Amino acid sequence: MTEDGTVHFGDSAIHYQVLRRPRRKKTVEITVDSPGIVTVAAPVETPKAHIEATVRKRAKWIIRHNGTSDHAPPRRRFVSGESLQYLGRSVRLTVRTTDAKAVRIRFHHWQFEVEVPASLSGDERREAARTAFERWYRERAAQKLPDRVDRVAGLLGVQPKEILIRDQRKRWASCAPDGTLRFNWRVIMAAPALIDYLVAHELAHLKVRGHSAEFWAVVAQPIPDYRRRRERLLELGPLVTL
Ligand SMILES: [Zn+2]
Repeated sequence: MTEDGTVHFGDSAIHYQVLRRPRRKKTVEITVDSPGIVTVAAPVETPKAHIEATVRKRAKWIIRHNGTSDHAPPRRRFVSGESLQYLGRSVRLTVRTTDAKAVRIRFHHWQFEVEVPASLSGDERREAARTAFERWYRERAAQKLPDRVDRVAGLLGVQPKEILIRDQRKRWASCAPDGTLRFNWRVIMAAPALIDYLVAHELAHLKVRGHSAEFWAVVAQPIPDYRRRRERLLELGPLVTL
């Protein structure tokens, strides 16, 4: 017999399975074995309510470790009234069905005006809108990130080799040994203060490779409150999706 449950946290749903183990360990242990697969090992006598409360308490940690279900609601529908994140703000969508050949996105007065071809429906429509938005975000990232990188690089006295915008599912950004910086296009959904932290973090790796105290001292030069920004980013992680 398996016991399982679901805990909702923000926009995420955490589905977990309970593994009852006899004697020995007296504590409740949560592991994320692979994305979306959360196992809670608990003593036989631990009440269900206590297990659920433990999952709820650790929700942020679980989300950070990719423990949310891919099928978690809400699934984006790309309809009027929905909103997407851009530079840390919620931007509302106004969607019109037209005889346009492809999805068109216009960003105007902090609103997304979207035209969707009448010939598309269901999953096809959703996928076309998602693809169009991804392209839009990628373009914005490519336009805006280089300036921010330049500014922080100047403060740190470093020079990256190249800046690339990529689709990195599991990370925000990386710095290769040759000095190439790679940014997840989703970065542009985050608030400017968080983007600057990410930029400073990767640029600091041009001076110090690992995450030593020396490394964080470099990050702190342009971003003295980097700790707070880093925490906000970890919480935001799963929410910036299309
Ligand atoms: Zn790092």
